[in-house]
Amino acid sequence: MGYKRGKSHLTKKQLKELNEVLLSEKERIETKLAVEKTHQQITETNSGKDEVDSANDDILKRTELRFTTRETLYLKKIKKTLGMVDTDEYGICEECGAQITFQRLRARPTSTMCITCKEESEREEFQNYHGRISKSLGEQISLTK
Ligand SMILES: [Zn+2]
Repeated sequence: MGYKRGKSHLTKKQLKELNEVLLSEKERIETKLAVEKTHQQITETNSGKDEVDSANDDILKRTELRFTTRETLYLKKIKKTLGMVDTDEYGICEECGAQITFQRLRARPTSTMCITCKEESEREEFQNYHGRISKSLGEQISLTK
């Protein structure tokens, strides 16, 4: 891809700090996932119980799976970000091209949008959701007329 190293608007010190945050997040999730995996293996070897138990296990396993998927996706994002730190793409909003502040990146090093665009996209999501509700309400109202 076309980005250049060492072209970030962030200082070397800031980049180093963000890199450390990302690395510790990576480690935290990898440990968590490893624990989950061991736990799943234990549950699997413990088979041979009555039906109620295995039904509960199914629910538990499904919940764990959802959790694991989310964490795996986050881990992927962290790894991708780690490869991008120190390039001119990192810390730049993918929506408007504005520089994402160090404070924001410090709190969320995987941010790809500036606070303005993030808020905007959240507002749109909210409006889409509520817009759909009021539309169906409107249809109900017109039916009672
Ligand atoms: Zn933006």
